[in-house]
Amino acid sequence: VTPVYAALVHHPVKDRQGATVTTAVTNLDVHDLARSVRTYGLEGLFIVTPIEAQRTLVQRILDHWVGGPGQKRTPERTVALRRVRLAASLDDVVDTLTEEHGSAVRRLATAARSPEGRSPLTYAEARSWIDDAPSPVLVLFGTGHGLTDRLLMDVEGLIEPIRGPSDYNHLSVRAAAAITFDRLRG
Ligand code: SAM
Repeated sequence: VTPVYAALVHHPVKDRQGATVTTAVTNLDVHDLARSVRTYGLEGLFIVTPIEAQRTLVQRILDHWVGGPGQKRTPERTVALRRVRLAASLDDVVDTLTEEHGSAVRRLATAARSPEGRSPLTYAEARSWIDDAPSPVLVLFGTGHGLTDRLLMDVEGLIEPIRGPSDYNHLSVRAAAAITFDRLRG
């Protein structure tokens, strides 16, 4: 089975006006994404932020739940959070995983809207894309107003947006990730 990882990206992402920014880490995202990652058998979740103080903060939260006082009280949370890792950049994640697996990682991005000029994979295609992959796959999720268009154009794979029957297109990253994992691995 192809090893699949997820990355929650806090840079480079867009703000409301489309400018490239760095967002702050949300505690709830870390907990909820870790549980979904664990449920669907992904190998790990990378929290990506260039801000060192933010990585220190997340590490302190992880230390509380993994090996710290939180472990006794809620062991199922520990099991999920054990898969969380921190990284300063997406390039660092790619380098780390490529080194650990000995083959180049392929990035598969998600977006509420595909950038013009790139036709995305359907979920069915993305599923086979993963299964046929000779190397690990890293599924990318954005924060703020989503991953930058440049990143969405650069990655090896892009998945079509999830759509409901309405024209409302503002899923939280936590919901979008759970739906994505279910479609790719469920
Ligand atoms: N502040 C928001 C929150 O509460 O989560 C962050 C929104 S962030 C732009 C949402 C991320 O979830 C996107 O970058 C993408 O990775 C994913 N996402 C959101 N809507 C999606 C959709 N319709 N299809 C696929 N992925 C989606």
